[in-house]
Amino acid sequence: MTPQQNPVSPWMDDELALFRDSVARFVEAEMVPNDAQWREQNNVGHEIWRKAGAMGFLCTDIPAEYGGAGGDFRHEAVVYEELSRRGLTGFASAVHSICAHYLLNHGTEAQKHRFIPLLASGEYVGAIGMTEPGAGSDLQGIRTRAVRDGDDYIVNGSKIFITNGSLTGLLALVVRTDPAAGSKGFSILMVETKSLKGYRVGRVLDKMGMKAQDTAELFFEDMRVPAANLLGGEEGRGLRQLMSDLPYERVILAVSGVAAMEGALAATLAYVRERKAFGHVIAEFQNTRFKLAEAATITRVARTFVDRCIQDVIDGRLDTATASMAKYWVSDMQQQVIDECVQLHGGYGYMNEYLVSRMFADARVQRIYAGTNEIMKEVIGRSLLS
Ligand SMILES: Cc1cc2nc3c(=O)[nH]c(=O)nc-3n(C[C@H](O)[C@H](O)[C@H](O)COP(=O)(O)OP(=O)(O)OC[C@H]3O[C@@H](n4cnc5c(N)ncnc54)[C@H](O)[C@@H]3O)c2cc1C
Repeated sequence: MTPQQNPVSPWMDDELALFRDSVARFVEAEMVPNDAQWREQNNVGHEIWRKAGAMGFLCTDIPAEYGGAGGDFRHEAVVYEELSRRGLTGFASAVHSICAHYLLNHGTEAQKHRFIPLLASGEYVGAIGMTEPGAGSDLQGIRTRAVRDGDDYIVNGSKIFITNGSLTGLLALVVRTDPAAGSKGFSILMVETKSLKGYRVGRVLDKMGMKAQDTAELFFEDMRVPAANLLGGEEGRGLRQLMSDLPYERVILAVSGVAAMEGALAATLAYVRERKAFGHVIAEFQNTRFKLAEAATITRVARTFVDRCIQDVIDGRLDTATASMAKYWVSDMQQQVIDECVQLHGGYGYMNEYLVSRMFADARVQRIYAGTNEIMKEVIGRSLLS
């Protein structure tokens, strides 16, 4: 192995290497050729979800008894890595997986058996509806209201910035069930959106990057959701359910961040060996070698930390503060490393036909969503002082 090659992660084994090969082949054949079209239309469509489901690439770490592939978080990491190294940010399987994990970790047996197989097959695309126009970092500001009426809840309100929003068939919707109960007044409803009266997808939002990912506004007007779809069957547990799954969500972001750095670095190494200026390939300039050395070192440090976090997820010991460190630091470094990769590409690095250009725009939001990096620092800081 030369230093520029990615080290093999300590959690990899022969079975995972075969799995990685089949994911990579699928991604190359079914996704890479379609990415430009997906970026144009601002979504990846339904067909690719069903194809990925048929291949066993969705819900890879969910037990087979609930329709998952029966693997563990390493299988999920392999999928995120193969997507992110190629800059494929439209297929938001991370959000899909988080939706499935809410069910796995907090759902009733009936809810798990009913919904997870539909997510694992790609029949339903999963989404998570927390953010509202007036409530992002501060989820206590959520106003979407669900009022019990017989065997249903009647829901009124709206959500914004919802990933997979226009395609979703199953939305984990955070609602206020008791406005007087403070943090215990929130619940999660699993909303089956197809042909649902009172459910409306608003604009698919025009973003700086991640053009192939559909990010939508959602509206609910007297929308009836069966009370049987209340996650876990008990009101008032919504915020606790959200909080307990945050480390999983945040480490996924770090996994995709470091894989994007690796992909950008590989593309840049190839580019600087070809591109000539002043009669030399630009790889021969000392500045190029220094910048590459810095980017490779940061990427390797990030990889080592993220590999440790992946192992901690498997061992069930990843704590919230460590996951927050991974999310904030890796996403900051992702932006820094990819920025240097753009610089080494010169003007071509600013052209969307180049991978590093798309990766640069796509990276920016990693510091914002899934809890902003400022909120991550709050979480870490509080854990140090508690
Ligand atoms: C592309 C994209 C996809 C998304 N996908 C989803 C999704 O699928 N589901 C979903 O529910 N949401 C989603 N979001 C929403 C995302 O999680 C929020 O945008 C994010 O949590 C920040 O909330 P906000 O935008 O309201 O910013 P605000 O909370 O208004 O924050 C504005 C600024 O103030 C800072 N700030 C806020 N509070 C503090 C504090 N206590 N201390 C210090 N600084 C603070 C923030 O760090 C930020 O810099 C998505 C967003 C984007 C852009």
